[in-house]
Formats: sequence, C-alpha cells, structure tokens
Amino acid sequence: MYLKSLEIQGFKSFPDKISLTFDKGLTAVVGPNGSGKSNIGDSVRWVLGEQSTKTLRGNKMEDVIFSGTVARKPMGFAAVTLNIDNRDNTIPDIGDEIAVTRKLYRSGESEYMINGKPCRLKDINELFMDTGLGRDGYSIIGQGRIAEIVGAKSSERRDIFEEAAGISKFRYKKLEAERKLTAAQENLLRLTDILTELE
Ligand code: ATP
Repeated sequence: MYLKSLEIQGFKSFPDKISLTFDKGLTAVVGPNGSGKSNIGDSVRWVLGEQSTKTLRGNKMEDVIFSGTVARKPMGFAAVTLNIDNRDNTIPDIGDEIAVTRKLYRSGESEYMINGKPCRLKDINELFMDTGLGRDGYSIIGQGRIAEIVGAKSSERRDIFEEAAGISKFRYKKLEAERKLTAAQENLLRLTDILTELE
C-alpha cells in the first residue's frame, strides 16, 4: 500500500485545486519558508480524521479553510482527497484504489467519503487501523515526534508498537464489544424492572 496522490482545494494556503503525485520511494517537498510545505503534511493528517486543532497548528477547525489574502477572497470550504494504491491488498475487500475525502464548510458542516461514498469518521478510523496510516499511525512523523516517542511513558510507546504489530484493531473491537455488552446488560436490567412492576 502506498500514497499515490493528494488533491487539495481551499485548504490553508492552497485556494486552487492542486494535485500532488507521489512515486514509489522517497519524495521530498522543498520550498522557501512559509511556502506551504508543512501545510501539505497537515492536509494528510486532516483527511485521515485529525480532530486536534493544535496538531493542525490552528486555534479552531475553521482555520484550515483558506482565509484569503489581500488579492484573494477567503474560500467557503476546504477539501482534501488522499488516493492510496492498495494493489497489494493491505486492506482487504475494498479494491485496488482507495480514495478518502474530507470536506469542511465554513458553516461548520463536514463530510467524509471513502471511494466517493459518504461515510463516518469512524469508518475511516477503522479502515486504516493497524496499517500505520491512520490519524494515530506512525506514517507521519512530524517535527519533534521522535523526541516525544523517546520521552513518552511506556504505556504510550506500547500503543505505537501495538499499531505496528496489528493489535490495536482487536483491542478496539474488544472495547466496542464490551461497551455493547454493558449497554445490553443495562437494557436487560431495565426490562427486569418493568416486568417486576407489571407483575
Ligand atoms: P517553514 O519552512 O518555515 O516551516 P512551510 O513551507 O512549512 O514553512 P507552512 O507552515 O506550511 O510553510 O505554511 C505557512 C503559510 O501558510 C503561512 O504563510 C500562512 O499564512 C499560510 N496559511 C496557513 N493557514 C492558512 C489559511 N487558513 N489561509 C491562508 N493561508 C494560510
């Protein structure tokens, strides 16, 4: 699985639609200070579901939408699509290509899509779980992240190893099953109460 291309429109310093194509191997993004190199990394984090405005280097989520310049009006929305080559079937049962899209309007309305079909953020998180690519994955190592990992608590470091070993998906599914079980037990308790009242 590898990142094939990225389409950005209205995101941070990119008002016009741009398309970046990545070949297999190493890609370097070079440019003068403030030209938008880090914004490209932010767009990948964002499309993968990043919810932390701090991680995205803003104060509120709306800050990811192009805010205008003296020569150009602000945009009403930001949209990013990440195209992934999945020919090696890293993610089974979805096809050779995966396109993930996130769109945010200035009104606050937002959309997520997988291969053009609307979906929930949860679906995107589940799709990339254990691939290392998700929002909490290790495929994007930002500035300071290495120092953060080295200085992290052992339990936090374990999360990274679990994601790499493919365990996090099972841990997530276990937690979800436990949550459903608790809800079912509470419902059962409520039903028993109602039955007792009726008897
Ligand atoms: P450096 O080499 O200094 O780290 P860089 O190339 O990584 O710089 P970025 O941090 O990606 O640069 O981009 C910063 C630029 O993006 C700034 O000029 C900032 O004004 C612009 N920018 C950020 N958010 C927005 C926004 N919502 N609308 C318009 N421009 C924005």
